[in-house]
Amino acid sequence: MFLERFRLDGRTAFVTGGGQGIGLSCAQALAEAGAKVTIADRDEALLESTITSLKAKNYDAAGVVLDVTDSDAVTRAADRMWSIEGRIDILINNAGIARSETSAEDVCDEHWLNVLDVNLNGTFWCARAFGRHMLRQESGAIVNIGSMSGFIVNRPQPQSYYNASKAAVHQLTKSLAAEWAPRGVRVNAVAPTYIATPLNAFADKQSEMYRRWIDGTPQGRLGDPDEVASVVLFLSSDAASLMTGSIVLADGGYSCW
Ligand code: NDP
Repeated sequence: MFLERFRLDGRTAFVTGGGQGIGLSCAQALAEAGAKVTIADRDEALLESTITSLKAKNYDAAGVVLDVTDSDAVTRAADRMWSIEGRIDILINNAGIARSETSAEDVCDEHWLNVLDVNLNGTFWCARAFGRHMLRQESGAIVNIGSMSGFIVNRPQPQSYYNASKAAVHQLTKSLAAEWAPRGVRVNAVAPTYIATPLNAFADKQSEMYRRWIDGTPQGRLGDPDEVASVVLFLSSDAASLMTGSIVLADGGYSCW
């Protein structure tokens, strides 16, 4: 009985930035639990190879080229999914970027705006567009990918723009959750530690920064994308039916110190 509550058979899911990294793991987890998954990413070639590999594993997956910063395109994608599927059950707001500057004094206007545009605006455009359909059907689960750095200031160099964008995603999560709970839509977030994905590829493994990431984590390692996806799967499922407005840390203990 309990395991059934984690199943997603007959549900539809939309995962942004799902061509690689955490988003891809989330798409796999949801598909393995029985959902029909649509993956959005902005690189068509990446998307095609991802969908081919998921179909080879017999997952029910389709792809759509989408830049989440384009509000009109996001609305069209949501409306199209609704008209094809007749329902939208799960949205994973995963698309996000970071930039390599760590000191605030070095951050150029363009990078500040890019990071806010993808991480915060993109999350809102998608929540609003897909959420409208969920509200209409009076059910749905949205999971935003936040970050532990929305809570804590990361060492050795805070990335002020990234941290601010993720703190805003956490507050957006709680605000939407409170607003939409009476209408059957749950909104939660996962706040991961450093995860081994292309996003962190800028960090040299021999560098002082990388060593401090590891040393600052009680578990003594980076996280794996699948470990984030497991939490996302839980929050997307009926197993988390009492949860809304939660920001779930998956940080290897980083924030304990
Ligand atoms: P990756 O860079 O590995 O994957 C993110 C995917 O999202 C990429 O394919 C990227 O495409 C895509 N993407 C970026 N911008 C857009 C956009 N505007 N529209 C559509 N797709 C887009 O990142 P991760 O898997 O590491 O990160 C996923 C999420 O997890 C992000 O929100 C990130 O902030 C968050 N996170 C990551 C952590 C980590 O340590 N890795 C820690 C905590 C949170 P492209 O390659 O073209 O940019």
